[in-house]
Amino acid sequence: MPSTPADPHNFKRRGVLFVLSSPSGAGKSTIARLLLADEPELDMSVSATTRPIRAGEVAGRDYHFVDIEEFRRMVAEDEFLEWAHVFGHRYGTPRAQVEAMLAAGKDVLFDIDWQGAQQLFQIAGGDVVRVFIFPPSMEELRSRLSKRATDVPEVIDARMARAANEVSHWDGYDYVLVNDDVERCFAGVKTILAAERLKRSRQTGLIGFIRKLTR
Ligand code: ADP
Ligand code: 5GP
Repeated sequence: MPSTPADPHNFKRRGVLFVLSSPSGAGKSTIARLLLADEPELDMSVSATTRPIRAGEVAGRDYHFVDIEEFRRMVAEDEFLEWAHVFGHRYGTPRAQVEAMLAAGKDVLFDIDWQGAQQLFQIAGGDVVRVFIFPPSMEELRSRLSKRATDVPEVIDARMARAANEVSHWDGYDYVLVNDDVERCFAGVKTILAAERLKRSRQTGLIGFIRKLTR
């Protein structure tokens, strides 16, 4: 990995599996977009889902849109790192792309819910960093969902009904942030990623450096 101002010595290290979760509408896609544009060493895991494509979404970029038979086949053939039922549809993280990104020396960003974060942590423990984003209030959450204008009112009601349940899983995360101001929240997420990249336990290349240092 090339060195960055926050990681000047560029020791070889294990990739970070960086999970962003929030109730729908709190702003995790916004933060994820900013992060991907700003962090060349970070790649997005594109999930597979059985939910219908929304206006503005691009197949293969936002999700791999698959039918229920294909999703079941992928589950049966153990092609998912994790998968879950969300909002009456199924969502899963294809294993192969994550492995390819890590092998290419990238960190991987996941926009998955608490069930996914839990499963990923169970599999990959120390490599996983879990960040939960709160909305400043439930009123503001509803307002953002309405302004986003991608869902009909019944779907917004369903997302609001689920939001309290999502929030109740906050204690399964390593970091929590409030997205009242996008720039401030983004700065917080970048700080977390920078610090996690510097963790001793990830820096497998440190050993060679220390041998030379103490020889
Ligand atoms: P999520 O991915 O969590 O469902 P989005 O990133 O799509 O949420 O954000 C939902 C809506 O709220 C979008 O229209 C987005 O532009 C807006 N938004 C995100 N963060 C903020 C913020 N801090 N203040 C105001 N609006 C925001
Ligand atoms: P949406 O339909 O709004 O794109 O996503 C709904 C929810 O599903 C979000 O909370 C999102 O984080 C979650 N999600 C998306 N992909 C996955 C996945 O692969 N696994 C899990 N567990 N959740 C996912």
